[in-house]
Amino acid sequence: MELEEHYGQLLGVKSPWEIASIDLKMQDQRVNIVIEYTGDQGPCPECGATCPKHDNRKKRTWRHLDTMQFSTYLYCEVPRVRCETHGAKTVAIPWAGKNSRFTLLFEAFAIRVLTAARSVEEARKLLGLNWHQTEAIKARAVQRGLARRKKTNIRYLGSLLQNATKQRVY
Ligand SMILES: [Zn+2]
Repeated sequence: MELEEHYGQLLGVKSPWEIASIDLKMQDQRVNIVIEYTGDQGPCPECGATCPKHDNRKKRTWRHLDTMQFSTYLYCEVPRVRCETHGAKTVAIPWAGKNSRFTLLFEAFAIRVLTAARSVEEARKLLGLNWHQTEAIKARAVQRGLARRKKTNIRYLGSLLQNATKQRVY
């Protein structure tokens, strides 16, 4: 398997996103992964409508899980689409949450380490994070948990309503 393909699967990068290059910096012990958006249209993050591509936002960087002992970073010029209703909007990226400088996989791993470590301080040092980064990762994890719970509640409510309807019918 090609290295690009391997990372693509690990990161959940699918067309129209594409891994353009993987640059191994031996001296810096660093892997730089460049991702490109190859489509000329994309979904509006507000309403999901397919819209034409507007422009590429400036290059953004995310820290990913290390590859062996190499720190691993993602780079992408994230495009904006022009929605008829919502104007120019940055498309949602599949590998990281909005406004995060870390990939979702990194954040999930960081939460595991935070849970397993004896103290936040110890976890922070193991992960190479500062206090603000750690707090932001924790806050986003709580928000994702709340969003998941909301979905489950709606599903639960749905099945309750269904049962209630059934009882009325029979
Ligand atoms: Zn829209």
